[in-house]
Amino acid sequence: MKATLDHVGIAVTDLAAALAFYRDALGLDIEAPEAVASQRVRAHFLPVGEAKLELLEATAPDSPIAKYTDKRGPGLHHITLRVEDIHAALAQLKARGARLIDETPRPGAEHSLVAFVHPASAHGVLVELKQSAVDRQQASPQPSVSSPDTVVRRYVVGDLELISLSDGLVHFDGGAMFGAVPKVMWEKKAPADARNRITMAMRPLVVRGARTMLIDAGLGGKESAKFHDIYGVDRTRSLDVTMAEAGLAPGDIDIVLASHLHFDHAGGFTYRDADGRIRPTFPRAQYIVRRGEWEDATHPHERNRASYLADHYVPLADAGVLQLVDDDATIMPGVKIRRTGGHCRHHQIALIESKGRSAAFVADLIPTTAHAADAWIMGFDLYPMDTLAAKKQFMKEAIDKETLVFFEHDPVIAAGYIQERDGKRIVVPALSESP
Ligand SMILES: [Zn+2]
Ligand SMILES: [Zn+2]
Repeated sequence: MKATLDHVGIAVTDLAAALAFYRDALGLDIEAPEAVASQRVRAHFLPVGEAKLELLEATAPDSPIAKYTDKRGPGLHHITLRVEDIHAALAQLKARGARLIDETPRPGAEHSLVAFVHPASAHGVLVELKQSAVDRQQASPQPSVSSPDTVVRRYVVGDLELISLSDGLVHFDGGAMFGAVPKVMWEKKAPADARNRITMAMRPLVVRGARTMLIDAGLGGKESAKFHDIYGVDRTRSLDVTMAEAGLAPGDIDIVLASHLHFDHAGGFTYRDADGRIRPTFPRAQYIVRRGEWEDATHPHERNRASYLADHYVPLADAGVLQLVDDDATIMPGVKIRRTGGHCRHHQIALIESKGRSAAFVADLIPTTAHAADAWIMGFDLYPMDTLAAKKQFMKEAIDKETLVFFEHDPVIAAGYIQERDGKRIVVPALSESP
């Protein structure tokens, strides 16, 4: 393990006096303070060569720093070592019997991942490990909502390889995406454009094991300019482009699984050929659709009609590649489907398991990481109370099993782990294998 000293944390009780020494007497430069709300602490960084000193000032009596100084007085609080791969570092420490405060990394400042090692194992010093965002993204630009990230990412779950792809971006009405949640709350997580739309990715997932399965396929390329304008479609990072980047050809796909048949999930199932005929995109694949969803999509009503475009799925039946399933079932070794309903009556998710590890493709049950809280449910959902029940059950399982969760519509985070901290649900972005 290669580690670099990042900073030394010093708990202070009298900030003015501490600055009089470190800044004025020692003559060190000081950066603008950073508030860490969750820890009720303000951090003042003073660069010293490649590393920094961090003066930690409690902002509330129940701050962990206040508790620390109440017990021990001001002084050295922790040292932070920067590592290239925090998961590997933690695994190595664990294998050698070190006591970890954080068994899995949690999000730190500036999109870093951090984890604490107990002082009992580090000879009386609290050691923080940190993997900075630059290392995490293999030096690709740091994603933010304003710069969506649709990089192809590979993950390994037991014997299965999971490849997160992209079919580009759509922009859906923010109000419809967050239902009863007021805009003053959701716009902090998902900024709206001038037409009140938020940026959403479309991220089909490939599961490679005994067979090669594609789950959902994005919007595809058959829609009109008017449609593209209404939904702000940007297919620069389309499925054919990202599949090619992943080394996959349409003929490699054995199974296509539909979470449901809405246009942003099923559009890529078919394409229009040179003669204007609509054909299955994946020539060798069997397309698996839930029978109830097929019935609903082929008999739409006033409330869901805008979501279903027959060209996306009827040609599959005509081509004889459609396979309807009635119940929750194993689709290939390690991949099971589960009906959640809620979003639409027969919406389903894919639960993936191999060698004791688990992953899940949750489609429109939890479309983005902003929908992690139970009550953040889409206005689009036809049966929101069913969404709530399915989400609660899934969240409990995902936290217990440390499930790697794929967020089909999140503009930045393709996959992450759900955790609960201080009563709040958070998503820790997952590190991918190198592409
Ligand atoms: Zn949908
Ligand atoms: Zn959707």
